[in-house]
Amino acid sequence: MKCRHCETELSLSLIDLGSAPPSNAYLSLADLKAPEKWYPLRVLVCTNCWLVQTEDHAGREELFDAEYAYFSSVSTTWLEHARTYVAQMVERFNLSSDSTVVEVAANDGYLLQYVLDRGIPCYGVEPTASTAAAAKAKGIEVVEEFFGEALASRLVEEKGAADLIAANNVLAHVPDINDFVCGFTRLLKPHGVATFEFPHLLNLIEQISLIQFIMSIILIFLSRLLVVCLLKMG
Ligand SMILES: [Zn+2]
Repeated sequence: MKCRHCETELSLSLIDLGSAPPSNAYLSLADLKAPEKWYPLRVLVCTNCWLVQTEDHAGREELFDAEYAYFSSVSTTWLEHARTYVAQMVERFNLSSDSTVVEVAANDGYLLQYVLDRGIPCYGVEPTASTAAAAKAKGIEVVEEFFGEALASRLVEEKGAADLIAANNVLAHVPDINDFVCGFTRLLKPHGVATFEFPHLLNLIEQISLIQFIMSIILIFLSRLLVVCLLKMG
């Protein structure tokens, strides 16, 4: 397998966790009569750019399907984090009714609901139908597709460029990291801002948080690598 960022052949293994079914892939009664899909869960390190990544087995459509069961709003502490984030961004970047805010992986609208409350135009990009329906029920517009350069170019044409793009805990779930990052450069206004939240490699190692890999995390970053990646993609 080649590195998802720099395409160097991967040969260094960080850890081998055996195999596991996709996270959040809960089984129905009917599913219990059939064999369950398990995938190898080996974590590799690129010796050129140091991106840590899982082996390529399950596609994004399989990990993030219409029945996706993780709804961000179940966590009250996460909701409070989202509310505080929106307040800080509005103040710091003077966002108003003339601005456009986009959240990539908007989930059930846990964050954009606070943007909407302030009368700031916004919409979410969210490919999982289950969570997108919950966001729409809150009155939030949702584009139900996977984010990348092609979609970003279309969104600029259809809705205009964004002043702020939020991407919380999605970067690490993206198989094609270069295409995904390119989407931000396409969709942002020249002085627009994108913010990312993602698990950091050193925290993961210090806390021995192997659960991160089981939770359909595909990539783990060092901050320095993310900066290099963003610069490279424009
Ligand atoms: Zn690499």
